[in-house]
Amino acid sequence: MRLGSSPDAALLRHSFSRERIQFAWELLDALPFSSYERREDGTSGSGASEGAPINRLYVQTLGQPLPPQDTEDPALYMRKVEQLASLINDADAVVVGIGSGMSTSAGYDFYHQSDLFDFAFDSFRRAHGFDTLFDGMYHMFSTNEEQWAFNAAVSDFAECLPVGAPYRKLAMLLSGKEHFVLTTNVDGQVPRAFAKGSYWLFQGDMRFLQCSQPCNDEVVHDVSVTMGLLASMSVGEDGVPRIPTDRLSRCPECNHLMAPWVRDVNFAEGRLWREQKDAYEKFVGNHLAAGHRVLFLELGVSSMTPAIIKLPFWSMTERYDNAFYVCVNRAEASAPQQLGQRGMAMTADLARVIDSLEGPRSY
Ligand SMILES: [Zn+2]
Repeated sequence: MRLGSSPDAALLRHSFSRERIQFAWELLDALPFSSYERREDGTSGSGASEGAPINRLYVQTLGQPLPPQDTEDPALYMRKVEQLASLINDADAVVVGIGSGMSTSAGYDFYHQSDLFDFAFDSFRRAHGFDTLFDGMYHMFSTNEEQWAFNAAVSDFAECLPVGAPYRKLAMLLSGKEHFVLTTNVDGQVPRAFAKGSYWLFQGDMRFLQCSQPCNDEVVHDVSVTMGLLASMSVGEDGVPRIPTDRLSRCPECNHLMAPWVRDVNFAEGRLWREQKDAYEKFVGNHLAAGHRVLFLELGVSSMTPAIIKLPFWSMTERYDNAFYVCVNRAEASAPQQLGQRGMAMTADLARVIDSLEGPRSY
Protein backbone atom coordinates (compact mmCIF):
# COMPACT_ATOMS: atom_id res chain seq x y z
CA MET A 1 0.00 0.00 0.00
CA ARG A 2 1.33 3.36 -0.91
CA LEU A 3 -0.87 5.16 1.57
CA GLY A 4 -1.40 4.30 5.17
CA SER A 5 1.06 6.42 7.10
CA SER A 6 -1.87 8.47 8.34
CA PRO A 7 -5.20 6.93 9.33
CA ASP A 8 -6.92 9.64 7.32
CA ALA A 9 -4.79 9.30 4.24
CA ALA A 10 -7.42 7.63 2.11
CA LEU A 11 -10.05 10.11 3.20
CA LEU A 12 -7.83 13.09 2.48
CA ARG A 13 -7.18 11.58 -0.90
CA HIS A 14 -10.85 12.10 -1.63
CA SER A 15 -10.78 15.71 -0.61
CA PHE A 16 -8.78 17.27 -3.40
CA SER A 17 -10.47 17.39 -6.74
CA ARG A 18 -7.24 18.16 -8.58
CA GLU A 19 -5.93 14.81 -7.46
CA ARG A 20 -8.83 12.78 -8.77
CA ILE A 21 -7.00 11.59 -11.86
CA GLN A 22 -4.02 10.66 -9.75
CA PHE A 23 -6.43 8.91 -7.41
CA ALA A 24 -7.76 6.87 -10.32
CA TRP A 25 -4.28 5.72 -11.20
CA GLU A 26 -3.51 4.85 -7.62
CA LEU A 27 -6.68 2.82 -7.49
CA LEU A 28 -5.27 0.84 -10.37
CA ASP A 29 -2.00 0.42 -8.50
CA ALA A 30 -3.97 -0.85 -5.53
CA LEU A 31 -5.55 -3.59 -7.59
CA PRO A 32 -4.27 -6.93 -6.46
CA PHE A 33 -3.91 -8.11 -10.02
CA SER A 34 -4.54 -7.25 -13.60
CA SER A 35 -7.12 -9.46 -15.22
CA TYR A 36 -4.58 -10.19 -17.94
CA GLU A 37 -2.05 -11.49 -15.51
CA ARG A 38 -4.07 -14.28 -14.03
CA ARG A 39 -3.62 -17.87 -14.97
CA GLU A 40 -5.80 -20.74 -14.01
CA ASP A 41 -3.00 -22.40 -12.07
CA GLY A 42 -2.81 -19.51 -9.61
CA THR A 43 0.53 -18.14 -10.73
CA SER A 44 0.85 -14.63 -12.02
CA GLY A 45 1.55 -14.05 -15.69
CA SER A 46 3.63 -11.66 -17.70
CA GLY A 47 4.41 -8.38 -16.02
CA ALA A 48 4.51 -9.77 -12.49
CA SER A 49 7.80 -10.39 -10.83
CA GLU A 50 8.93 -13.93 -10.16
CA GLY A 51 7.98 -15.17 -6.78
CA ALA A 52 5.58 -12.30 -6.06
CA PRO A 53 3.21 -13.29 -3.27
CA ILE A 54 -0.22 -14.33 -4.42
CA ASN A 55 -2.53 -11.54 -3.40
CA ARG A 56 -5.18 -11.96 -0.78
CA LEU A 57 -8.11 -11.54 -3.11
CA TYR A 58 -6.86 -14.23 -5.40
CA VAL A 59 -6.33 -16.56 -2.47
CA GLN A 60 -9.94 -15.94 -1.53
CA THR A 61 -11.00 -16.65 -5.06
CA LEU A 62 -9.04 -19.85 -5.06
CA GLY A 63 -10.69 -20.71 -1.78
CA GLN A 64 -14.08 -20.82 -3.46
CA PRO A 65 -15.02 -24.24 -4.81
CA LEU A 66 -14.95 -23.59 -8.54
CA PRO A 67 -16.12 -26.27 -10.95
CA PRO A 68 -13.72 -27.60 -13.60
CA GLN A 69 -12.91 -24.83 -16.04
CA ASP A 70 -13.28 -25.20 -19.80
CA THR A 71 -9.76 -23.85 -20.16
CA GLU A 72 -8.46 -27.07 -18.62
CA ASP A 73 -9.31 -28.68 -21.95
CA PRO A 74 -7.74 -26.32 -24.54
CA ALA A 75 -9.44 -28.02 -27.50
CA LEU A 76 -12.86 -27.74 -25.88
CA TYR A 77 -12.19 -24.15 -24.87
CA MET A 78 -11.09 -23.19 -28.39
CA ARG A 79 -14.16 -24.84 -29.92
CA LYS A 80 -16.43 -22.87 -27.63
CA VAL A 81 -14.61 -19.60 -28.26
CA GLU A 82 -14.90 -20.15 -32.02
CA GLN A 83 -18.57 -20.98 -31.66
CA LEU A 84 -19.19 -17.86 -29.62
CA ALA A 85 -17.21 -15.75 -32.10
CA SER A 86 -19.37 -17.15 -34.92
CA LEU A 87 -22.58 -16.50 -33.00
CA ILE A 88 -21.57 -12.88 -32.42
CA ASN A 89 -20.46 -12.48 -36.02
CA ASP A 90 -23.65 -13.98 -37.44
CA ALA A 91 -26.04 -12.26 -35.04
CA ASP A 92 -28.22 -9.41 -36.24
CA ALA A 93 -28.36 -8.21 -32.65
CA VAL A 94 -26.60 -9.04 -29.40
CA VAL A 95 -28.40 -8.60 -26.09
CA VAL A 96 -25.83 -8.66 -23.29
CA GLY A 97 -26.73 -9.39 -19.69
CA ILE A 98 -23.99 -8.33 -17.30
CA GLY A 99 -23.77 -9.35 -13.64
CA SER A 100 -21.27 -8.87 -10.85
CA GLY A 101 -18.93 -11.52 -12.28
CA MET A 102 -17.97 -9.06 -15.01
CA SER A 103 -16.64 -6.54 -12.50
CA THR A 104 -14.98 -9.29 -10.50
CA SER A 105 -13.24 -10.36 -13.68
CA ALA A 106 -12.09 -6.77 -14.17
CA GLY A 107 -10.48 -6.95 -10.72
CA TYR A 108 -13.31 -5.15 -8.92
CA ASP A 109 -14.68 -7.54 -6.34
CA PHE A 110 -17.10 -5.61 -4.14
CA TYR A 111 -18.28 -8.62 -2.18
CA HIS A 112 -15.02 -9.71 -0.57
CA GLN A 113 -12.19 -8.03 1.25
CA SER A 114 -9.69 -6.55 -1.18
CA ASP A 115 -6.63 -4.35 -1.28
CA LEU A 116 -8.61 -1.97 -3.46
CA PHE A 117 -11.27 -1.47 -0.78
CA ASP A 118 -8.64 -1.15 1.96
CA PHE A 119 -6.92 1.51 -0.11
CA ALA A 120 -9.93 3.60 -1.04
CA PHE A 121 -12.00 3.25 2.14
CA ASP A 122 -9.41 2.86 4.86
CA SER A 123 -10.90 5.54 7.12
CA PHE A 124 -14.35 3.99 6.92
CA ARG A 125 -13.07 0.49 7.49
CA ARG A 126 -11.28 1.65 10.63
CA ALA A 127 -14.22 3.70 11.87
CA HIS A 128 -17.06 1.27 11.20
CA GLY A 129 -15.52 -2.17 10.94
CA PHE A 130 -16.87 -3.27 7.57
CA ASP A 131 -14.32 -4.44 5.04
CA THR A 132 -16.19 -4.73 1.76
CA LEU A 133 -18.04 -2.19 -0.36
CA PHE A 134 -21.16 -4.34 -0.27
CA ASP A 135 -21.17 -4.44 3.53
CA GLY A 136 -20.55 -0.70 3.67
CA MET A 137 -23.49 0.03 1.43
CA TYR A 138 -25.79 -1.90 3.76
CA HIS A 139 -24.18 -0.72 6.99
CA MET A 140 -26.49 0.95 9.52
CA PHE A 141 -24.65 4.18 10.20
CA SER A 142 -25.36 5.93 13.50
CA THR A 143 -25.96 9.33 11.95
CA ASN A 144 -26.82 10.86 8.59
CA GLU A 145 -23.55 12.76 8.72
CA GLU A 146 -21.60 9.48 8.85
CA GLN A 147 -23.79 7.89 6.20
CA TRP A 148 -23.22 10.76 3.83
CA ALA A 149 -19.48 10.77 4.28
CA PHE A 150 -19.50 7.19 3.04
CA ASN A 151 -22.06 7.90 0.30
CA ALA A 152 -19.85 10.66 -1.09
CA ALA A 153 -16.74 8.49 -0.95
CA VAL A 154 -18.54 5.64 -2.74
CA SER A 155 -19.79 7.95 -5.47
CA ASP A 156 -16.33 9.39 -6.01
CA PHE A 157 -14.77 5.93 -5.96
CA ALA A 158 -17.10 4.69 -8.71
CA GLU A 159 -16.47 7.84 -10.72
CA CYS A 160 -12.69 7.47 -10.49
CA LEU A 161 -12.45 3.73 -10.93
CA PRO A 162 -11.04 3.08 -14.40
CA VAL A 163 -13.34 1.25 -16.78
CA GLY A 164 -12.22 -2.36 -16.51
CA ALA A 165 -10.54 -4.11 -19.41
CA PRO A 166 -13.33 -6.68 -20.00
CA TYR A 167 -15.87 -3.85 -20.29
CA ARG A 168 -13.72 -1.83 -22.68
CA LYS A 169 -12.89 -4.81 -24.83
CA LEU A 170 -16.47 -6.03 -24.98
CA ALA A 171 -17.65 -2.57 -26.01
CA MET A 172 -15.05 -2.53 -28.78
CA LEU A 173 -15.94 -6.06 -29.83
CA LEU A 174 -19.60 -5.06 -30.24
CA SER A 175 -18.98 -1.59 -31.65
CA GLY A 176 -19.99 -2.53 -35.18
CA LYS A 177 -22.90 -4.69 -34.11
CA GLU A 178 -26.44 -3.89 -33.01
CA HIS A 179 -26.29 -4.42 -29.26
CA PHE A 180 -27.94 -3.55 -25.96
CA VAL A 181 -26.76 -4.16 -22.41
CA LEU A 182 -28.95 -5.04 -19.43
CA THR A 183 -27.06 -4.99 -16.14
CA THR A 184 -27.69 -5.52 -12.45
CA ASN A 185 -24.39 -3.85 -11.57
CA VAL A 186 -24.45 -0.42 -9.93
CA ASP A 187 -20.75 0.41 -10.15
CA GLY A 188 -20.97 2.71 -13.17
CA GLN A 189 -18.83 0.49 -15.40
CA VAL A 190 -21.52 -0.26 -18.01
CA PRO A 191 -22.60 3.35 -18.60
CA ARG A 192 -18.99 4.43 -18.86
CA ALA A 193 -18.10 1.66 -21.34
CA PHE A 194 -21.19 1.67 -23.56
CA ALA A 195 -22.98 4.40 -25.46
CA LYS A 196 -25.87 6.26 -23.89
CA GLY A 197 -29.14 4.73 -25.03
CA SER A 198 -27.68 1.24 -25.26
CA TYR A 199 -28.06 0.07 -21.68
CA TRP A 200 -30.59 -0.44 -18.92
CA LEU A 201 -29.29 0.03 -15.36
CA PHE A 202 -31.88 -2.17 -13.73
CA GLN A 203 -30.60 -1.65 -10.16
CA GLY A 204 -29.42 1.94 -10.56
CA ASP A 205 -25.98 3.49 -10.31
CA MET A 206 -24.10 4.25 -7.09
CA ARG A 207 -22.82 7.52 -8.58
CA PHE A 208 -26.36 8.92 -8.86
CA LEU A 209 -28.75 10.38 -6.27
CA GLN A 210 -32.52 10.32 -5.86
CA CYS A 211 -34.98 11.70 -3.32
CA SER A 212 -35.15 9.18 -0.47
CA GLN A 213 -38.97 9.17 -0.38
CA PRO A 214 -38.93 9.50 -3.47
CA CYS A 215 -41.22 12.47 -4.08
CA ASN A 216 -40.27 12.88 -7.72
CA ASP A 217 -38.83 11.03 -10.71
CA GLU A 218 -35.55 12.83 -11.07
CA VAL A 219 -32.16 11.19 -10.71
CA VAL A 220 -29.16 13.44 -10.15
CA HIS A 221 -25.71 12.79 -11.52
CA ASP A 222 -23.61 15.79 -10.60
CA VAL A 223 -19.94 15.29 -9.82
CA SER A 224 -19.74 18.77 -8.31
CA VAL A 225 -22.22 17.71 -5.62
CA THR A 226 -19.98 14.82 -4.66
CA MET A 227 -16.90 16.98 -4.73
CA GLY A 228 -18.56 19.57 -2.51
CA LEU A 229 -19.47 16.88 0.01
CA LEU A 230 -15.96 15.49 -0.01
CA ALA A 231 -14.45 18.93 0.44
CA SER A 232 -16.59 19.48 3.54
CA MET A 233 -15.81 16.08 5.06
CA SER A 234 -13.74 15.86 8.20
CA VAL A 235 -12.60 13.16 10.57
CA GLY A 236 -13.48 13.61 14.21
CA GLU A 237 -11.24 12.84 17.16
CA ASP A 238 -13.04 9.51 17.33
CA GLY A 239 -11.71 8.70 13.86
CA VAL A 240 -15.14 8.78 12.21
CA PRO A 241 -15.54 10.62 8.87
CA ARG A 242 -18.52 12.96 8.76
CA ILE A 243 -20.21 15.53 6.54
CA PRO A 244 -21.38 18.73 8.30
CA THR A 245 -25.11 18.64 9.02
CA ASP A 246 -25.82 21.67 6.88
CA ARG A 247 -24.11 20.04 3.89
CA LEU A 248 -26.23 16.89 3.76
CA SER A 249 -27.79 16.44 0.33
CA ARG A 250 -31.48 17.24 0.42
CA CYS A 251 -34.21 16.98 -2.16
CA PRO A 252 -34.92 20.41 -3.70
CA GLU A 253 -38.63 19.52 -3.90
CA CYS A 254 -39.44 18.14 -0.44
CA ASN A 255 -36.26 18.71 1.62
CA HIS A 256 -36.04 15.05 2.59
CA LEU A 257 -32.55 13.59 2.42
CA MET A 258 -31.40 12.35 -0.92
CA ALA A 259 -30.23 8.72 -1.27
CA PRO A 260 -27.95 6.78 -3.61
CA TRP A 261 -29.84 5.60 -6.70
CA VAL A 262 -29.36 1.95 -5.83
CA ARG A 263 -32.22 -0.49 -5.57
CA ASP A 264 -33.93 -0.80 -2.20
CA VAL A 265 -37.56 -0.44 -1.16
CA ASN A 266 -37.64 3.23 -2.16
CA PHE A 267 -35.72 2.87 -5.41
CA ALA A 268 -36.90 5.39 -8.01
CA GLU A 269 -38.07 3.60 -11.11
CA GLY A 270 -38.51 7.09 -12.48
CA ARG A 271 -38.15 8.78 -15.83
CA LEU A 272 -34.55 7.73 -16.51
CA TRP A 273 -35.19 4.13 -15.51
CA ARG A 274 -38.34 3.93 -17.61
CA GLU A 275 -36.58 5.42 -20.64
CA GLN A 276 -33.89 2.75 -20.38
CA LYS A 277 -36.51 0.03 -19.88
CA ASP A 278 -38.47 1.22 -22.92
CA ALA A 279 -35.30 1.30 -25.04
CA TYR A 280 -34.43 -2.26 -24.00
CA GLU A 281 -37.91 -3.63 -24.67
CA LYS A 282 -38.07 -1.86 -28.01
CA PHE A 283 -34.65 -3.17 -29.05
CA VAL A 284 -35.32 -6.76 -28.04
CA GLY A 285 -38.95 -6.78 -29.15
CA ASN A 286 -38.28 -5.36 -32.60
CA HIS A 287 -35.44 -7.76 -33.38
CA LEU A 288 -37.32 -10.81 -32.16
CA ALA A 289 -40.52 -9.82 -33.95
CA ALA A 290 -38.59 -9.38 -37.18
CA GLY A 291 -37.21 -12.91 -36.88
CA HIS A 292 -33.65 -11.65 -36.63
CA ARG A 293 -30.83 -13.74 -35.26
CA VAL A 294 -30.56 -12.54 -31.69
CA LEU A 295 -27.77 -13.64 -29.38
CA PHE A 296 -28.56 -13.44 -25.67
CA LEU A 297 -25.12 -13.26 -24.08
CA GLU A 298 -25.14 -13.66 -20.30
CA LEU A 299 -21.89 -12.64 -18.59
CA GLY A 300 -21.11 -13.19 -14.92
CA VAL A 301 -24.71 -13.35 -13.74
CA SER A 302 -25.15 -15.13 -10.43
CA SER A 303 -28.29 -16.84 -9.20
CA MET A 304 -29.02 -14.03 -6.71
CA THR A 305 -31.47 -12.23 -9.00
CA PRO A 306 -32.33 -14.68 -11.81
CA ALA A 307 -35.60 -12.96 -12.71
CA ILE A 308 -33.82 -9.91 -14.15
CA ILE A 309 -31.48 -11.38 -16.77
CA LYS A 310 -31.21 -15.15 -16.70
CA LEU A 311 -34.82 -16.34 -16.77
CA PRO A 312 -36.03 -13.82 -19.38
CA PHE A 313 -33.04 -14.72 -21.60
CA TRP A 314 -33.92 -18.41 -21.31
CA SER A 315 -37.57 -17.74 -22.00
CA MET A 316 -37.02 -15.54 -25.06
CA THR A 317 -34.48 -17.94 -26.53
CA GLU A 318 -36.87 -20.84 -26.06
CA ARG A 319 -39.73 -18.96 -27.76
CA TYR A 320 -37.87 -17.62 -30.79
CA ASP A 321 -36.23 -20.04 -33.20
CA ASN A 322 -33.57 -17.55 -34.33
CA ALA A 323 -32.49 -16.73 -30.79
CA PHE A 324 -29.36 -18.14 -29.14
CA TYR A 325 -28.30 -18.16 -25.53
CA VAL A 326 -24.73 -18.23 -24.28
CA CYS A 327 -23.84 -18.18 -20.58
CA VAL A 328 -20.25 -17.41 -19.54
CA ASN A 329 -19.49 -17.80 -15.86
CA ARG A 330 -16.52 -19.31 -14.08
CA ALA A 331 -18.61 -20.53 -11.16
CA GLU A 332 -22.10 -21.40 -12.31
CA ALA A 333 -22.40 -21.62 -16.09
CA SER A 334 -25.35 -23.51 -17.46
CA ALA A 335 -27.81 -23.52 -20.33
CA PRO A 336 -31.19 -25.28 -20.25
CA GLN A 337 -31.23 -28.57 -22.16
CA GLN A 338 -34.52 -27.52 -23.74
CA LEU A 339 -32.63 -24.97 -25.83
CA GLY A 340 -30.71 -27.75 -27.53
CA GLN A 341 -28.17 -26.43 -30.03
CA ARG A 342 -29.35 -22.89 -29.35
CA GLY A 343 -27.83 -22.83 -25.90
CA MET A 344 -24.20 -22.95 -24.78
CA ALA A 345 -22.48 -22.62 -21.41
CA MET A 346 -18.84 -21.69 -20.92
CA THR A 347 -17.25 -22.26 -17.53
CA ALA A 348 -14.41 -19.80 -17.79
CA ASP A 349 -13.08 -16.44 -16.64
CA LEU A 350 -14.81 -13.64 -18.51
CA ALA A 351 -11.71 -11.53 -19.03
CA ARG A 352 -9.98 -14.47 -20.63
CA VAL A 353 -12.93 -15.31 -22.88
CA ILE A 354 -13.23 -11.70 -24.05
CA ASP A 355 -9.49 -11.62 -24.69
CA SER A 356 -9.85 -14.79 -26.73
CA LEU A 357 -12.65 -13.26 -28.77
CA GLU A 358 -10.56 -10.24 -29.69
CA GLY A 359 -8.75 -12.04 -32.48
CA PRO A 360 -8.90 -15.45 -34.10
CA ARG A 361 -5.34 -16.20 -33.05
CA SER A 362 -5.24 -14.52 -29.67
CA TYR A 363 -6.01 -17.75 -27.88
ZN1 LIG B 1 -38.23 14.74 -2.47
